[in-house]
Amino acid sequence: YIELKDVQKEFILGDNVIKAVSGIDLSVEKGERLRISGRSGSGKSTLLNLMAGLEKTTSGQIIIDGNRIDQMNERDRIRYRRKTIGFIFQSYNLLPQYTALENVALPLVLRGIAPKKRIEMAKEIMEQVGIYSHAKHKPNEMSGGQQQRVGIARALITSPPIVFADEPTGNLDTKTSQEVMELLTKLFIQRGTTFVLVSHDEGIQDYTTRTIYLEDGRIINFSKEESN
Ligand code: ATP
Ligand code: MG
Repeated sequence: YIELKDVQKEFILGDNVIKAVSGIDLSVEKGERLRISGRSGSGKSTLLNLMAGLEKTTSGQIIIDGNRIDQMNERDRIRYRRKTIGFIFQSYNLLPQYTALENVALPLVLRGIAPKKRIEMAKEIMEQVGIYSHAKHKPNEMSGGQQQRVGIARALITSPPIVFADEPTGNLDTKTSQEVMELLTKLFIQRGTTFVLVSHDEGIQDYTTRTIYLEDGRIINFSKEESN
């Protein structure tokens, strides 16, 4: 469903070439909930951003549902991303001047959906995510867990078949993390959503179907090591 073939990403910083990820071959099946783990700087966010079409590959192929997103021009990639992909951020990335409901409805503004319908749809997803009681709050008037629920509602309002998340529970305490992961897992199983998240928290494994580990931008293969 999501296919990566020999994916590479280099960053140029002055005279230095930083190989953030190299030689990534990976298949993610529809409905899978995949965790990407590894130490700080191992390339987790870079890999996720490449898969989500937020960054361009240096080389290799990324195929989502038969579409070569690495070959798309910027415009097409943005359009494809908007209709296919939801993204949840560690630091929520809510717009501070807007209320929770306005933040959640934002992707619908970009799609040209009428205000009345937007409010209706935002209400529905916010109720499912358990944050409608805070619809009128601005981000700075909510706790981290509440802000992340707003971030989740915003990512899911367009019912994307694929959701990516970069350390979605990274700023939350253990109990709130578990609540957020339970919520996500329930919704994704219900909807058949394919979910790829970055998290170095081993506890998250209870909610995912598979974990891959990165080291220096490469996937490390435990089973191979064990059989040697
Ligand atoms: P963390 O757990 O700390 O978030 P990470 O595994 O997500 O780390 P990445 O952010 O993917 O790691 O970074 C991988 C490597 O690429 C690092 O060496 C980093 O410094 C480098 N890197 C990432 N983004 C850029 C950029 N925009 N420009 C230059 N180098 C970058
Ligand atoms: Mg990161």
